[in-house]
Amino acid sequence: MDSGPRQYRRVLDYLNEMIQLCRSRHRLDLVIEYQEAWEEAALAIYGKLPARLERQTYQPSPQQTKPVKTASRVEMFSKPLRKIIGRMGEYELLECGHQIWQPQEFLFEGVNHKRRRCGECAKAKQQAKKPPSAATEKLGRKEGTA
Ligand SMILES: [Zn+2]
Repeated sequence: MDSGPRQYRRVLDYLNEMIQLCRSRHRLDLVIEYQEAWEEAALAIYGKLPARLERQTYQPSPQQTKPVKTASRVEMFSKPLRKIIGRMGEYELLECGHQIWQPQEFLFEGVNHKRRRCGECAKAKQQAKKPPSAATEKLGRKEGTA
């Protein structure tokens, strides 16, 4: 906006500086005084602001605020988080006994991950959900019933 001569705007700058100064000196009485002066000056220079739009208080519906359930997100969250208990070269050993290949170039410097999502556990869980006949193939270890 380039309405109002430059010197008028310098008045606003000056008043602004005074507001900052008074605030830093804890002179709230003067802060209020200068703020009122600033309002007056701004009104004189720029005029009244246009009225608020009616749709200002637009509220998104709950549907819109929910994160979108994309296929990749669903897949990611189906993998349970497992603690990393060891590293061997580019492999990470998880507490569940599975290993995850984690190439060095994918690691960010300074970020030390403590957990990973285990795709193998997700697969096992998926199979456990299937009819009992399919689940009894090679789950020799004790992994709970879930
Ligand atoms: Zn696992």
